[in-house]
Amino acid sequence: MSTVCELDYRGLPPEIHCPVCGSEITGTLDIPCEHLLFSYVYEVGEFSQVPERINNEYGDKIDELEHSEIEDPPEKLVNTIDKDSVLCLTVTTTGISCGPVSSTYSVAFDFDPPEK
Ligand SMILES: [Zn+2]
Repeated sequence: MSTVCELDYRGLPPEIHCPVCGSEITGTLDIPCEHLLFSYVYEVGEFSQVPERINNEYGDKIDELEHSEIEDPPEKLVNTIDKDSVLCLTVTTTGISCGPVSSTYSVAFDFDPPEK
């Protein structure tokens, strides 16, 4: 079973690095390492940084999740992938700009990616 972990931060969104190899995940649209499964920004409602192997296997599911009103699409996707080695971090940041602002994004990792 995949694990979902929700984290709350105050202030600017933290940089996320891969917990396996340390590659920087946020601040790029590339797929920096083999452990990353996807990222997802709730305000945008789209999965990004999806590697080809995930797109090939779960593309239909991703499409379905992006076009439904379902809650927590990243959680639904990692539950579909359903591997013990998968961790999804959902980070919510809150702060004050011109009033209170909040943003949420998810990144998912596979600690045991398939051999190439
Ligand atoms: Zn990595």
